[in-house]
Amino acid sequence: MFKSSIVSFVFDDGYEGIYTDIKPIFDIKNIVGCIAIISDYLNSPTYMSRSQCLELQNKGWEIMGHTKTHPHLTTLTKKEIKYELQKSKTDLEENNLIITNLVYPYHDYNKMVRKIAKDYYCSARRGYTKINNFPLDLYSLNSILIDNPKDLSRTLKFVDTIKDTVGWAIFYMHYCLSEEFPTITLQDKINNLINVINYIQTKNIQILTIKKTLERIFNV
Ligand SMILES: [Zn+2]
Repeated sequence: MFKSSIVSFVFDDGYEGIYTDIKPIFDIKNIVGCIAIISDYLNSPTYMSRSQCLELQNKGWEIMGHTKTHPHLTTLTKKEIKYELQKSKTDLEENNLIITNLVYPYHDYNKMVRKIAKDYYCSARRGYTKINNFPLDLYSLNSILIDNPKDLSRTLKFVDTIKDTVGWAIFYMHYCLSEEFPTITLQDKINNLINVINYIQTKNIQILTIKKTLERIFNV
């Protein structure tokens, strides 16, 4: 069982705006989040740089693995999957980033991907639009997309559910303009995020990284 309800925020793909726009909000709210970094995109235009990642890591943010090139892992050979999961981790670690947990690109995984993920990571996240309760499946952690402000009431209901059931919600966001939702601006995404954070904080629910949450559960 969880001792108390927990929310984790994960920003997928490591866009630079996480540093410029999201970090200042999290600083004011006195919370930290997680960033899933595609290792080949580190230091690329519009993506976060090594120094930005290190600064956030030093503040308690978690940097997560998100493969080397963001492929559909289930389309790859065993050797290729291993390379994507292992090399991305060691590349980031060579940059002094601590990589413990994984996000499957496109939430695409199967038995083999899972098995290989287990060799390098303490957990891996999929989508599924559900909260997490015990027993936890560490290599299929559920998460809930909060890109679309129209989903706000649904998102807040998930917060109510974890409060009632003492569960863990992982909310994830792509902090970029997305083709899927062409009318949604970055400011819309920020306003939505602030609404979600405010609601969580009025409910006195803790906001922790995935790493901290797992440490707390397993006392490691
Ligand atoms: Zn991604």
